[in-house]
Amino acid sequence: MKKIIVIAGDGIGKEVTASAVEVLKKVDAKFNIGLEFEDRDAGGTAYEKFGEPLPAETLDACKKADAVLFGAVGGKKWDTLPVHLRPEKALFGLRKGLGLFANLRPVKVYSPLIDGSPLKPELVEGADLLIVRELVGGIYFGERCESEFVDGVESAWDTEKYSVPEIERIAKLAFETAKIRRGKLTSVDKANVLASSRLWRRVVNELAKNFNDVELNHLYVDNCAMQLAVNPKQFDVIVTSNIFGDILSDEAAVIGGSIGLMPSASIGELTSLYEPIHGSAPDIAGKNIANPMGSILSAAMLLRYSLNNSDAAQAIESAVDKTLADGYRTADIFKDGFKKIGTDECTKIICDRI
Ligand code: NAD
Repeated sequence: MKKIIVIAGDGIGKEVTASAVEVLKKVDAKFNIGLEFEDRDAGGTAYEKFGEPLPAETLDACKKADAVLFGAVGGKKWDTLPVHLRPEKALFGLRKGLGLFANLRPVKVYSPLIDGSPLKPELVEGADLLIVRELVGGIYFGERCESEFVDGVESAWDTEKYSVPEIERIAKLAFETAKIRRGKLTSVDKANVLASSRLWRRVVNELAKNFNDVELNHLYVDNCAMQLAVNPKQFDVIVTSNIFGDILSDEAAVIGGSIGLMPSASIGELTSLYEPIHGSAPDIAGKNIANPMGSILSAAMLLRYSLNNSDAAQAIESAVDKTLADGYRTADIFKDGFKKIGTDECTKIICDRI
């Protein structure tokens, strides 16, 4: 049996995660995977029940599982709580507790949705890339000072620091991911200015010797930001540091046109976690109008990366493709001339296509 911990969380997290579980049950029946699901709480929902956003038993269950399927956390109701009790703390706790060192964000432009992209159709048609972002190091976790005075002048500072093992770990994952995709890896840094980037580039080049079947190139982050807007089709896998990945992955996300469709994977030392990139969307929660595709495609990533089952992952991805090609649209991507569907109907239509 393969144990999946399901953390639906708050808001539309509950609806879209239920959809993803339904789809996983369908592929399980078809591919005989032997999935076992266990629900756990986190976020505002956990705070209401247990007085804390990430109960120890949730984290313990995740550590023992084969993978975690996560919805979203957060909501106005909990915005005034002290920082350590806020729903978002659950995510940081899971990242730390599971050692989630890499975030994988695929960006795919679906032909039927090409009009939703802010870029010209001819630029984005066929774009299909994956950003591998380092998640537990760099400037977000470096030494910092909120305020210091030197000769009466106030300063604040943060530090960007990467070690060889940290760079090797993320780069190895990126090379391996490129190998199972189209065999192209772009490493993004700022090696013309930053010492930490020069080490990054040296380590990536060294590792490349073990991956002769992957074509490697390097880009400075400013150039990469520009290239994503002018020619996103040139990319297969992009690997980069925590801060550069944070910015580039949000830029890349808009190429696809809709936040409701975007999945992600956070790869861990113990267990990996899969979640749509959107939040809990309190404005549409409980209305059966959320797009469940981001969560469903996250479930496909779970099958590919944690359970090594590309066939089952592909079956889900093809079913989503077909649903869009057949003209079905949830409210967020709806346009005149298409068939408007809710969350439940969308889930059923995708299941029927598996
Ligand atoms: P959001 O992603 O929840 O929503 C942004 C906009 O996109 C909203 O208008 C929403 O209705 C729409 N949207 C999002 N997902 C959609 C879907 N699947 N289908 C249709 N429309 C969708 O971001 P926000 O409004 O900035 O944040 C709301 C709450 O979520 C906050 O409490 C925030 O802290 C939290 N949040 C959580 C996560 C997470 O759990 N990983 C990530 C981001 C934000």
